[in-house]
Amino acid sequence: MTIGILGGGQLGYMLALAGYPLGLRFRFLDPSPEAPVGRIAQRVTADFDDLAALERFANGLELVTYEFENVPVPATKFLSERVPVFPSPATLEIAQDRLKEKALFRKLGIATTEFAPVRDLQSLDTAIAKIGLPAVLKTCRFGYDGKGQWVLRSASDAAKLKNEIGEALNKTAISGGAEDTTNAEPFILESFVSFTRELSVLAARARNGDTAFYPLVENRHHAGILRLSLAPVPALEPSIQLEAEAIARRVLESLEYVGVLAIEFFECEGRLLANEMAPRVHNSGHWTIEGAVTSQFENHLRAVLNFPLGSPKATCYAAMLNLIGEVPGIAEALAISGAHLHLYGKSPRPGRKLGHITLCASSPGELAASLRALPPFFQRPQFCLNPAPIPRPVGTTQTSTA
Ligand code: AMP
Repeated sequence: MTIGILGGGQLGYMLALAGYPLGLRFRFLDPSPEAPVGRIAQRVTADFDDLAALERFANGLELVTYEFENVPVPATKFLSERVPVFPSPATLEIAQDRLKEKALFRKLGIATTEFAPVRDLQSLDTAIAKIGLPAVLKTCRFGYDGKGQWVLRSASDAAKLKNEIGEALNKTAISGGAEDTTNAEPFILESFVSFTRELSVLAARARNGDTAFYPLVENRHHAGILRLSLAPVPALEPSIQLEAEAIARRVLESLEYVGVLAIEFFECEGRLLANEMAPRVHNSGHWTIEGAVTSQFENHLRAVLNFPLGSPKATCYAAMLNLIGEVPGIAEALAISGAHLHLYGKSPRPGRKLGHITLCASSPGELAASLRALPPFFQRPQFCLNPAPIPRPVGTTQTSTA
């Protein structure tokens, strides 16, 4: 059975690694001849809008999924006329646009940040008047790792920004929207949230409707890029886990979703505010490879193939550290007790995700001690190890449901 995957980065790489023990084969389509999956699977190197290449790619596949949510929706629609595509093109369309995503959260009664569409310079003023400052202006589409975002703290920030992006706003207003969407709003203004921490939930839904929810993860970012995930979240009220699962369930069911879905939240005074969702396996779920009974990658494959889902329960207390732009010496990394090293085979470049390390410990206290004992390479601010995770009181357990 051969699974087709759009996008050939590290998420695809880890999907294939999870699928080989299940006897699956993989074929990837990616525009870059350097895509990491080239080392381990069949690869078609072509643009996503190359219909002849899509036709060749689809030939003989069991189904198609994706590891990258900026795949053009028309490519997924073209493929879905030939083979099943999961998650559906309609889901992808929502997840690619922050306004559509927020509108879905609202429709489902899921708390989210205050927001307003921004289509031109005048509507930026209107949005600021509605939302107030501080606020964050974001491109509706194609933003990732904090790119395409501007924090506006004062009226003078707003005036400066208007000069910076005024041209882009006017151009989009004249042309009627971004290239491949009709009437798309190019920007969204969101109120700036002073959150306690950022959390994410990973959920899987199979074709037969079965669901599984992983324990919530705490995520820490540096310069807009995820650097550290802690799972299960240290010192979490069990009611928050249940709230996250209920939210994820509403999204999964309303979209008749198939596959793994990630939803990112801001935790504010014990409440969850949904920030965004990703219709794919997610960086904040890498810990599940060694830290859960079934990894997010395996469960995504089980979900799209309609196999029984595996248990999402955590088997340890895990910390996942992203290696961005630089990697430690392999021997140094492997000398860390309880550490699992993953390198994606990419050449180093600033800001590039080159690999990650997951540390597994048998108690929160042991995890905190392992993090304190990491070599100097990791004891720098970008690894976000401070404040140290707070160990949960002895005798409490983290649960998740399948
Ligand atoms: P996003 O691309 O929406 O995940 O944003 C990247 C990062 O910017 C988030 O992980 C937050 O750290 C920060 N951020 C995004 N939106 C907001 C907001 N409305 N208020 C405060 N911080 C935000």
